[in-house]
Amino acid sequence: MDSETQTKASVIDGKAFAADLRAEVAEGVAAFVARTGRKPGLAVVLVGEDPASQVYVRNKHKSTVEAGMNSFEHRLPADTAQEDLLALVAQLNDDPAVDGILVQLPLPAGLDENAVIQAIDPDKDVDGFTTASAGRLLTGLPGFVACTPLGCLMLLKDRLGDLSGKSAVVIGRSNIVGKPMAQLLLRESCTVTIAHSRTADLPSVVRGADIVVAAVGRPEMVKGDWLKPGATVIDVGINRVPAENGKTKLVGDVDFASASAVAGAITPVPGGVGPMTIACLLYNTLDAARRREGVD
Ligand code: NDP
Repeated sequence: MDSETQTKASVIDGKAFAADLRAEVAEGVAAFVARTGRKPGLAVVLVGEDPASQVYVRNKHKSTVEAGMNSFEHRLPADTAQEDLLALVAQLNDDPAVDGILVQLPLPAGLDENAVIQAIDPDKDVDGFTTASAGRLLTGLPGFVACTPLGCLMLLKDRLGDLSGKSAVVIGRSNIVGKPMAQLLLRESCTVTIAHSRTADLPSVVRGADIVVAAVGRPEMVKGDWLKPGATVIDVGINRVPAENGKTKLVGDVDFASASAVAGAITPVPGGVGPMTIACLLYNTLDAARRREGVD
């Protein structure tokens, strides 16, 4: 049997979903502008010259402008002092034209990442990384949810509808993906297990799950024979590995070939979760602007 006839899972098209979401946000932005007379604004702070961060910031700027919002870019040198960075965050917190603030991570060595993130006004924390945002999610208060797990949840709800009562395993417990993902699934009344590097017999844990979210950072770790037949698999991983042609390619944390023969639905890498992250950043920024203006 060739790999095409073996494939049973339907492939979740995150790229198409993200394009629809961005179009919806753009419509919402147009309505917001008509109502308030101003554009929502996203401020992005980039410190230093990290090449990957420069690409991310460029993409965020382009997408923000395409959605009809103002994009305020602040590029600072790598040797920026902590107090100068904190002063910029304070200025953006006070700026009425700024609805969302994103500080691109990682920050150069010598800067206290946590102190900078915590300085962001929680009502402008469109990345959802402050402890205030994490606490709001945990306690069920309205707030901003980190963009990647929010995107994963949207894909799951689109595919499965009501998630209530489903058994979900989240592999990974980082503050930016695993933990908020688990909280979101709990909020949807899933029965949630959080697995990590110390989990005993991970394949058996995963085998009990209707929903598997892999956010590990280990190329193709989750195999098809770990999965419950028909499970929905969301692959957050982005790993660059050597390709046959001597170049490199991107793979996820899930072994797509074997997993797609068992799963009911699965996200590809690339083209699955990745495109959702920026789309959700735009979604959160519009949400922030609406909340600040008291607009529905
Ligand atoms: P972290 O490195 O912060 O966390 C990885 C988690 O995986 C940890 O909780 C770790 O456990 C767990 N882990 C590591 N090895 C194993 C193992 N062998 N078995 C089980 N669990 C293990 O990563 P992130 O959460 O930041 O990112 C995860 C992946 O998602 C990466 O590939 C990253 O590139 C990608 N990513 C993709 C995004 C997107 O837009 N699509 C956005 C953000 C991340 P422990 O806590 O015990 O160490």
